Amino acid sequence: MMNMFENLRKFDPAVYSLMKEELIRQQRNIELIASENIVSVEVMETMGSHLTNKYAEGYPSKRYYGGCQYIDEIESLAIERLKEVFGAEHANVQPHSGANANMGVYFAVLKPGDKVMGMNLSQGGHLTHGSPVNISGQYFDFHEYGVTKEDGLIDYENVRKIAHDIKPKLIVAGASAYPRAIDFKRFREIADEVGALLMVDMAHIAGLVAAGLHENPCEYAHFVTSTTHKTLRGPRGGIILCKAEYGKVIDKAIFPGTQGGPLEHIIAAKAVCFKEALSEKFKEYQKQVVKNAKVLSEELMNRGFKLLTEGTDNHLILVDLTNKNITGKEAEKVLDEAYITTNKNTIPFDPNGPFVTSGIRIGTPAVTTRGMKEEDMKVIAKAIDLCLTYKDIEKARELVVGLTEKYPIYNEHKLMN
Ligand SMILES: *Cc1c(COP(=O)(O)O)cnc(C)c1O
Repeated sequence: MMNMFENLRKFDPAVYSLMKEELIRQQRNIELIASENIVSVEVMETMGSHLTNKYAEGYPSKRYYGGCQYIDEIESLAIERLKEVFGAEHANVQPHSGANANMGVYFAVLKPGDKVMGMNLSQGGHLTHGSPVNISGQYFDFHEYGVTKEDGLIDYENVRKIAHDIKPKLIVAGASAYPRAIDFKRFREIADEVGALLMVDMAHIAGLVAAGLHENPCEYAHFVTSTTHKTLRGPRGGIILCKAEYGKVIDKAIFPGTQGGPLEHIIAAKAVCFKEALSEKFKEYQKQVVKNAKVLSEELMNRGFKLLTEGTDNHLILVDLTNKNITGKEAEKVLDEAYITTNKNTIPFDPNGPFVTSGIRIGTPAVTTRGMKEEDMKVIAKAIDLCLTYKDIEKARELVVGLTEKYPIYNEHKLMN
């Protein structure tokens, strides 16, 4: 097969060589950022295609541009497959990102100043769930809920209490850094008690939900939003699922409400991702993601690391570094020197601010895509321990290189040379 980027190499060596450096970094490093993954070449090929040429404002068979007959079929295929993956009544595949998907739901059901509840950012929530630096926090009256100090689990009784006190129009459930299953049924009961709508943002766990390894929020929520590039392992983008009765307002809120022309090359790649998500192979992959996270969490605890909630139900682990005499920021840097990529993360009630932090978040989706299994997680735990406890970067790096050479990415496809 010809080098996939041969033409680019000739025309723009500057961009080409930086892309190549990034590919080498991805091959060399152990990627433990819980929100990242490694897409298939099929997804990548579709993204980098001539479909980017087409304007298609509107929706299949209701466009504001001519020449959309094939684009219509592609987008319809994406919608039908997505509905099948999650058993949803209505699906919108146009949000450019997870943030845009959330904005779409807010724009569909809220007026500026309306009361909403979302999870505290420093306890696992997301910027778009009402942070004061985000448009969500500035345009809507968000009230935050969080986890208990004792066990780090969502404080559902407090969620109920806040809901009864403020009577929100919408409750947002979902998180970016929460290692346990979320009780959607309970959220829906609380929402019903106070006459609120429920939105679940399943960005992090969508792949697990697709594989039946986490409860499906579509059964309980009026709206479900997600990214497509995290555990779902598709192109960078967003989606909205909802009950049929809200289909029209959701579609209108995305276009023309908050977006212009859809990215049809990305929508086609989403369709490919959804086909992958319907396969048996994908289920096996997600099972391995969860198994790997369990083994990694046990190995880290055996080595004296404190984990939030003492383990994980899903693909991610939050390490509380307060007993290791190192901040999240320092840990991220030291690990990176050993070619281990993670991100610093606040822990609930963090004594350090969000820039320094006292924790790191690690996840298994990307290493599992590379083919790593339980025994490899033991090596990763050892490498992390060497970095953070013994400060032996060199020894850790040797272990990492051994693993990444054993599990190459895009090996059989000559992407770049
Ligand atoms: C990642 C994430 C998002 C945002 O996705 P982007 O595509 O980066 O905009 C939204 N919500 C949650 C819970 C996330 O984890």
